[in-house]
Amino acid sequence: MKLRNVQDVARWRLCIGCGACAYMCPEKNVSLVNVAHEGIRPKAQKSHCKGCGECLKVCPGINISHTFNPRDPGIISGLSPGWGPILDVWEGYAADPEIRRRGSSGGLVSALSLYCIEEVGMQGVLHAGPLEMQPIENVTTFSTNRSQILARAGSRYSPASPCDGLGQIEAADRPCVFIGKPCDGAALKKAREIRPGLDRNVGLTIGIFCAGTPASQGTIDLFKKLGVNPDSVAEVRYRGHGWPGKFAVRPVGGDTFCEMATYPDAWGFLQKYRPYRCYLCPDGTSELADISCGDPWYRNPEEGEAGSSLVLTRTEKGRIILRGAMEAGYVALERRDPHLLDKSQQNLSAKRSAIWGRLLAMKTFGIPTPRLKGFHLFENWRQLSTKEKARSILGTARRIILRGYYKPAGKG
Ligand SMILES: Cc1cc2nc3c(=O)[nH]c(=O)nc-3n(C[C@H](O)[C@H](O)[C@H](O)COP(=O)(O)OP(=O)(O)OC[C@H]3O[C@@H](n4cnc5c(N)ncnc54)[C@H](O)[C@@H]3O)c2cc1C
Ligand code: SF4
Ligand code: SF4
Repeated sequence: MKLRNVQDVARWRLCIGCGACAYMCPEKNVSLVNVAHEGIRPKAQKSHCKGCGECLKVCPGINISHTFNPRDPGIISGLSPGWGPILDVWEGYAADPEIRRRGSSGGLVSALSLYCIEEVGMQGVLHAGPLEMQPIENVTTFSTNRSQILARAGSRYSPASPCDGLGQIEAADRPCVFIGKPCDGAALKKAREIRPGLDRNVGLTIGIFCAGTPASQGTIDLFKKLGVNPDSVAEVRYRGHGWPGKFAVRPVGGDTFCEMATYPDAWGFLQKYRPYRCYLCPDGTSELADISCGDPWYRNPEEGEAGSSLVLTRTEKGRIILRGAMEAGYVALERRDPHLLDKSQQNLSAKRSAIWGRLLAMKTFGIPTPRLKGFHLFENWRQLSTKEKARSILGTARRIILRGYYKPAGKG
């Protein structure tokens, strides 16, 4: 089945809403729309499309390829089939207590970005943050100082498309930081291969771990469940202010947040709204970034814990920046046993192992599948028990039939 354009990608439920197609289209013909039950999706006018295919070239929804040498002596052996290349594993937090508190786990991502601006001389940080007055929506922003970075700290469990702003990095005078989910990082990598001006200006890529982005309807329904009137909400905080923190809302006209649900309750509810494509996502830990950060779930949060992030350096550049940030006092880090990553992210590992079976089921139905190279998918799948292998195939087949996924969305 040939996908002719990004709308076909969305119709076949392969879009992950990174926004890179909107950046790439030379005709500026791709706009992005947040569809409440799905996520951010591209819209293009047929009559303006010249058929150049630039949008599809960068689309991570249909193709992600990761090439690295697993025998590279710098890479921690044994981890790469499950997690990609990793040079070092650390755990730590932002030395600035406010950044640590506002951050999702330990504010590490924000603290590293600030170091890049204040000490390395980078121009700004391209990342996602809440859209003012429409608290469920996110917007791509270019932060250039501490207060802006702080305002965008924390995890947003709702659609965000940071790659729609890549033009701001391309147009910058100096290198910049890019922050995004693994799929955002995959789109960036492809765009850099095509646009040398963009490539030149990417100073550092920081990726967050990701188990899937719930559609906005998740937050809307969570409000309903908690008895929150969406019109009375000025700001939503999905977590943070301690680790992992609580789901909290700030009412219109109010200065303080009201805590509404624990992290397990809020995420437990929201995760049901993750789109189909996230179940086919091989990269939960931002393998293509210079540095990736997630939660140290190998241990339980202590009562009142301020939080810390699990940090993976994946490139020599990432290693240098991390060391510099430590020496300059922006972050406090300790080395960790690399195998704590497995313990911390068991769900992500289980998902990756199931993907080969899921793709097989889709192919059997003749459904377009993403091409995913360099993630050792068969090797991971082979290690499942017979029952798990069968579930990965038959469970997907069942879902395809029950939900009508054998045909594109919008076809009766
Ligand atoms: C949808 C989603 C799913 C996640 N799943 C997992 C998981 O399975 N396991 C795990 O360990 N961690 C997961 N995380 C990551 C985790 O929540 C933290 O982001 C991570 O621990 C880094 O925390 P920090 O305090 O160092 O970052 P912070 O200093 O708080 O910085 C976070 C940065 O992430 C950016 N950001 C926030 N939301 C989004 C978004 N939706 N899209 C793109 N960029 C965004 C912000 O702009 C900010 O710059 C997930 C995050 C998200 C957004
Ligand atoms: S480039 Fe990104 S937003 Fe565009 S169709 Fe592909 S996944 Fe969706
Ligand atoms: S699970 Fe994968 S595809 Fe889905 S939002 Fe996260 S990184 Fe993107």
